[in-house]
Amino acid sequence: MCRQCRKPGKGFTDRYIVRPLKKMGRDLAVKPVMRALFGRRLPHAAPGILYIDTHVHTCFSHDSFADTEQVLINAARRGLDAIAITDHNEIRAVSYARQLIPRLKEQRLLPQHFLLIPGEEVSSADGHIGALFCEEFIPPGLPAGETIELIRQAGGLAVAVHPFGRSALKEKCRVFPFDAVELYNQSILIPGDVARTLAICRTPELARLPRLGASDGHNERDVGASYTAVAVTEVSLGGLREAIEAGRTVPQTCGLTRFLLALHRLSLASWRKSAFPSGSAASCPGAAAEDLKD
Ligand SMILES: [Zn+2]
Ligand SMILES: [Zn+2]
Repeated sequence: MCRQCRKPGKGFTDRYIVRPLKKMGRDLAVKPVMRALFGRRLPHAAPGILYIDTHVHTCFSHDSFADTEQVLINAARRGLDAIAITDHNEIRAVSYARQLIPRLKEQRLLPQHFLLIPGEEVSSADGHIGALFCEEFIPPGLPAGETIELIRQAGGLAVAVHPFGRSALKEKCRVFPFDAVELYNQSILIPGDVARTLAICRTPELARLPRLGASDGHNERDVGASYTAVAVTEVSLGGLREAIEAGRTVPQTCGLTRFLLALHRLSLASWRKSAFPSGSAASCPGAAAEDLKD
């Protein structure tokens, strides 16, 4: 049983055969690549700029075994100044992490100014919706409009997370009154979805929204894989929120997104019609690497 979230452990085969084999594979093949892509410390930020990852999962999520303490430590190692814990339909990790943070700061594993943004990723009936700066539990399964309304009533910001991808709102993102949109989400690995996301963010309904970059990390290694540079006037949760609402955000991505977009461009000519039905947001010009200058 997980000590943090009380999630039951898996069976004998999984524990002694499947997981050790997976770990060996990761150590030999995946870890060096992940380290090369995401392991580097971010460049030193200019004064008044904070680096934040607004979409991180911990073991309190049904689909993650990420150790909450290690997520925080890795965020600081990566050079992030704040993360938002946004577990699926779950907010227990926020209070758990809040208990850890004073000790981690005392041990100098986190910088003194490090901030934790309370959040949740709500599975609405229409797709996933991010709730940032939200202290209250927002129940899953409600229509997207109602979910956004509840997030606002609870004092949170509603984010259109991964507009395309698994359990995404897709074109419906354009209909609802979001407070921000995720331009980069590092858990989206389908080249077409990356390109469609860039394209829908250029549509008039979403182009006016503050843009975020986030890892959507489900394990300790991924935190900060994509992130957002935020120009704050005050290093506090209130200052962060004000800066995001004012749109002083620059989403940043890593080499993986560039690679996926390059793949998409290579294949664009052959399957453009099937991937981009005419009239969809994704048929907008610009679903290409030039969006990366954001
Ligand atoms: Zn999601
Ligand atoms: Zn997520």
